[in-house]
Amino acid sequence: MNQPVCRLLKVKMIIMKFGGTSVGSAKEILRVTDLIAGESRKKVVVVSAMAGITDRLEEIAKNIINLPATVVEKEVEKSYREILSFHVSTAKKAIKDKKIQKEVVKEITELANELRITLLGIGYLEDLSPKSLDYILSFGERLSVLILTGALKSRGINAKSLTGYEAGIITNSRFGSARPIFKKIDKSIKKKLNPLLDKGILPVVTGFIAADEDARITTLGRGGSDFTASLLARYLEAEEVQIWTDVDGILSTDPRIVPNTSLISTISYVEAMDLAYFGAKVIHPMMIEPAMDANIPVRIKNTFNPKSEGTLIVREQKEVEGIIKAVTMTRDVVIVNLKGVGMAETPNIAASVFTLLGDHNINIIMISGSSESNLSFVIKKSDLANTVNLLNTGFMANCIRNLELIEDSCIITIVGAGMRGTKGIAAKIFQTIADEDVNIIMIAQGSSEVNISLMVKESDGEKVLKALHKRFIEK
Ligand code: ADP
Ligand code: ASP
Ligand code: MG
Repeated sequence: MNQPVCRLLKVKMIIMKFGGTSVGSAKEILRVTDLIAGESRKKVVVVSAMAGITDRLEEIAKNIINLPATVVEKEVEKSYREILSFHVSTAKKAIKDKKIQKEVVKEITELANELRITLLGIGYLEDLSPKSLDYILSFGERLSVLILTGALKSRGINAKSLTGYEAGIITNSRFGSARPIFKKIDKSIKKKLNPLLDKGILPVVTGFIAADEDARITTLGRGGSDFTASLLARYLEAEEVQIWTDVDGILSTDPRIVPNTSLISTISYVEAMDLAYFGAKVIHPMMIEPAMDANIPVRIKNTFNPKSEGTLIVREQKEVEGIIKAVTMTRDVVIVNLKGVGMAETPNIAASVFTLLGDHNINIIMISGSSESNLSFVIKKSDLANTVNLLNTGFMANCIRNLELIEDSCIITIVGAGMRGTKGIAAKIFQTIADEDVNIIMIAQGSSEVNISLMVKESDGEKVLKALHKRFIEK
């Protein structure tokens, strides 16, 4: 009987996540406070670093470790001042109440000083481990959350800033792409956030960053704030997750490549996951699963055009007239072809290769069938050196006679629930590509049966994307 009444009545609540461009300047932050104030339901806000800051922090860190010790201090001072002044000037413009503004400027200055000390440490040691990098990248969200919370307080909203860890997100220690410890976070998220919600306080949580069981800061991988939002939604039993960004929703392809895109009004979890996994940057691929597990709708909305309905991601796979909903392109990937006589004599060679790579956190993006003496798969370019090293040593080296790499390629993915069971669709796709005089290097159909992925030369990628979009999506 001691549970607060609102818990028993299950008050509806939502998660509102704002990406980097949505909080890119004081003007945008003020716009975001309008959107938050205009939402009458109970809510938790998740915020990313201000646009460009995560990239800039990474650049600063990578630069510092390559400098001679004699110039480290001077360079750190310059970077520290840059990050400090950018956030202080934003805070001064976004927070009208002078007292709150002063407090936030003090907190920003303390954090920037912590960043300065960390940069000095990595600079002198010339050592940037994934753990240190996560720590440095965390400053982006830790700074932006202070400004947004200050701006909300300044307009009379009872808001409180929290890091992902303070909001209950505990992860493993895989720095750079940490994964939540699901058994723990169910309880910890509820324990940390429900008391605040019950008191009518608005939690404003840093996206992207969390901490491991020893409270060391981790990150969920680039673009991971969306994942933070869906984890909070899942365990707070939210009725909706809103992803506020700089486009109207999920578009039929990347608007930076094809201007003539159309907005997808409804899409299934499975299709959205495939799209995100294969390059539609608008949502993080990991964010779908927690929402899907709890059947929570995900709504993508445009901060700069809130009247647009956006995209709704739900369970049902709604077929569209044209069968295909979207096409994407994934760059910076490499095809690895393994050939060798020894492979035929070694049972379960594919399983051994994938286990070995998986144990070293190397993700296999695509597999194109295998025969006894041949195995082809696709990895990220950033994993190439590590992969080659693993396959060229020990037991593997004896089985594999020939390791071939195709580096200048990209993945084109065609997504649509209507493809399942529709005859002749693959033929039409291949014909469209042949008409462009482009050679297909590799083909794979996703197990979800809502996508077909194929590889072409990177230099042909945009041409193929445009041709497929024109053929299947443009009216
Ligand atoms: P945020 O900072 O809000 O997280 P992101 O930059 O991560 O925003 O994602 C939004 C961007 O994703 C858009 O500006 C757009 O350029 C890009 N994008 C790529 N593919 C798609 C797609 N299929 N639909 C919508 N946006 C896409
Ligand atoms: N700030 C982080 C990034 O730029 C996380 C995010 O934006 O979702 O990757
Ligand atoms: Mg994003």
